Amino acid sequence: MDFLMNRTFEIRLYPTREQQKLLDITFGACRFVYNNVLGLRQSYYKDYEFKDKDLNIMDMLKAFNPWLNDIGSQAICQSLNDLNKAYKNWFNSLSKKTKQKSKAPKFKKKSDRQSYRDCMMKKNIFELLDIQNRKITVPKIGKITYRCGYDFSKYKIMKVCNITLKKSKTNKYFCSICCECNEPEKLKLNDYKIGFDLGLKDFLIDSEGIVIDNPKYFKKSQEKLAKEQRKLSHCIKGSNNYKKQKLKVALVHEHIKNQRKDFQHKISHQLINENQVIISEDLKPSNMVKNHKLAKSIADASFSNFCNMIDYKSKWYGRTYIKVSSFYPSSKLCHCCGYKNTTLTLSDREWECPICHTLLDRDKNAALNILEEGLKILNKSGQGLPIEPIDTVYNSTLE
Ligand SMILES: [Zn+2]
Repeated sequence: MDFLMNRTFEIRLYPTREQQKLLDITFGACRFVYNNVLGLRQSYYKDYEFKDKDLNIMDMLKAFNPWLNDIGSQAICQSLNDLNKAYKNWFNSLSKKTKQKSKAPKFKKKSDRQSYRDCMMKKNIFELLDIQNRKITVPKIGKITYRCGYDFSKYKIMKVCNITLKKSKTNKYFCSICCECNEPEKLKLNDYKIGFDLGLKDFLIDSEGIVIDNPKYFKKSQEKLAKEQRKLSHCIKGSNNYKKQKLKVALVHEHIKNQRKDFQHKISHQLINENQVIISEDLKPSNMVKNHKLAKSIADASFSNFCNMIDYKSKWYGRTYIKVSSFYPSSKLCHCCGYKNTTLTLSDREWECPICHTLLDRDKNAALNILEEGLKILNKSGQGLPIEPIDTVYNSTLE
């Protein structure tokens, strides 16, 4: 039987001047409607504690702003759906209905990344894409030239749920195509299990003691970013030089993001390929928000991206990914005898267990403990006990 899954493909767009103008107007219209409705809802909330109710004010907005009539109603509708969803998440999080913490919806700025979504009603991808001529048909805009590295004929069923048109801070246009397609073929089962710990200095340390360094080009780009940001701080805000410099900073940011993404794809691919069971610490998003140090918070964000990659790839390829609670003291326990070293500090790279006298490397010891704890969770979940936190369905064909 074929299992369907959603998958998103991002392609780079090369719109003509005319198409750029149309896209920019649509981004602006969606932002305009979003912000206006958000403003209304905010004042209702403040004055009357008006909460979760749909405001049908589109007619009113259109009456005062006739230019909105020329914009695709799908795009505007989707942006209002986003706002409703943002409110719903926020209210749920306030009333603690869900574990996920959400913030109050914020106004969209023109300087942020621009985007709008269009519903595609499960159209076949080949109705949307003209592969031969590299053109994508975007409603209300027309046929836009694209470039991408995907071979779409490789995926069997490809029904398009929606497309998101985006403009990056560096003024590049993209389209994310969300499709329903067949799951990829599962990898052959094996017996390898691995635990890993993510770090600031080294990227990853696994339970076999293998250390994966952060690539040297990361440091180079970080230095370049610092240099360009310093230059920006000397520019007068709002001046032409400021705008030019801001674009330069955004370009370096983009470059770093792409470098990191490539690197993480490579590492996660390797981990998934080689191991049947992969175990890591669960990184709590709430820990990240509390962190004010920039370098650390960037690292945290990239860790959660990496764990997401492992998560979805393990589901695609039939692997098991388990997350161990972040409260589990993985560095402090001796993996040989279980002794807990409560005086261990961050600067202690190595320590000797006073009970069993094993010399422990801090990171490898942590990875080994994570592996062991994860395997315990895996075994318990096999008996049908609901164990938290476990993000992956127990794979009964294991072992
Ligand atoms: Zn010990």
